[in-house]
Amino acid sequence: MNILVTGGAGYIGSHVLKALLKEGHQVITLDNLQKGYKEAVTGGKFIEGDLADKKLLNKIMKEDEIEGVIHLAADSLVGESMEKPGKYYMNNFANGINLLEAMINNDVKNIVFSSTAAVYGEPDEIPIKENNKTEPTSTYGESKLFFEKALKRYDDTYGLKYASLRYFNAAGADPEGEIGEAHDPETHLIPIVLQTALGIRDKIYIFGDDYPTNDGSCIRDYIHVNDLAAAHLLALEALAEGKESSIYNLGSGEGYSVKEVIDTVKEVTGRDFEVEISERRAGDPAVLIASSDKIQKELDWQPKYTELEKIISTAWQWHKSGGFERRTNDE
Ligand code: UDP
Repeated sequence: MNILVTGGAGYIGSHVLKALLKEGHQVITLDNLQKGYKEAVTGGKFIEGDLADKKLLNKIMKEDEIEGVIHLAADSLVGESMEKPGKYYMNNFANGINLLEAMINNDVKNIVFSSTAAVYGEPDEIPIKENNKTEPTSTYGESKLFFEKALKRYDDTYGLKYASLRYFNAAGADPEGEIGEAHDPETHLIPIVLQTALGIRDKIYIFGDDYPTNDGSCIRDYIHVNDLAAAHLLALEALAEGKESSIYNLGSGEGYSVKEVIDTVKEVTGRDFEVEISERRAGDPAVLIASSDKIQKELDWQPKYTELEKIISTAWQWHKSGGFERRTNDE
């Protein structure tokens, strides 16, 4: 298939791209390189460009004879989204509509969308199911939810078929060591703890130890980025074979606390470092664990990296090899 991957130079996008290339697909990556890295694009055709550029989107659809789209390009910092809501509505929602319009104009009917657990907000029940209430607590989550709603309207109106994948906590790295997670600034727990193990940071701060959990720190559902990537392929293939539009959670179904993550990093790396309890971070729900039963049943998705130790080991390989520093220094 000729597949357009938006945001293919980012952390998750580059792992999706690599999985698509392995399956023999023709891939065109569109990325504005605001947060992504050109070196993370390990094959296919690369176009530096932005979703604001309607002409470019139409040109790609036509000239590259796109048959399916995997849409990951987005701003994704929850904190920033609370300070600059317009940036998130504009980039994640309005510019996303440019993409849908270009698809419809060129009769491209299948899209896999990178959504988020942030669409749920504070959950009523754990594990979270796809039909639970969606009341996002951040502009980031809301911008993704708005786009999901647009997808439904485009399906009703034009027959656009979509799979919306609500990621929980993506983590880990390509076991072949070619690509990994290199956000700058980094806000995610696992890479921050690994940077602390490497001595790039002095200590790790636990954001709150007074949550109603076993050890008082927040619990999250960490899913390996290659398992996430595999789900994108399954979802797009299912759409190409005529499957109806759907929304799927993507997590491993296991919850780990911040303290457990830190202890596991210490075990995996064999390094000790300072840990300090600090204030809660605004907007953090105590527990987020996904039910991923739906995608397992409907698309036969089977995560391979269900143990936290394995997930962290792959990320550690990447960080230890200087991957993070290489990327962030190259800019
Ligand atoms: N966290 C922490 N210290 C850090 C970074 C994150 O204690 O330096 C906590 C954060 O409050 C949350 C969990 O780790 O409870 C996972 O945070 P992350 O930003 O990785 O993902 P999120 O769940 O916010 O998408």
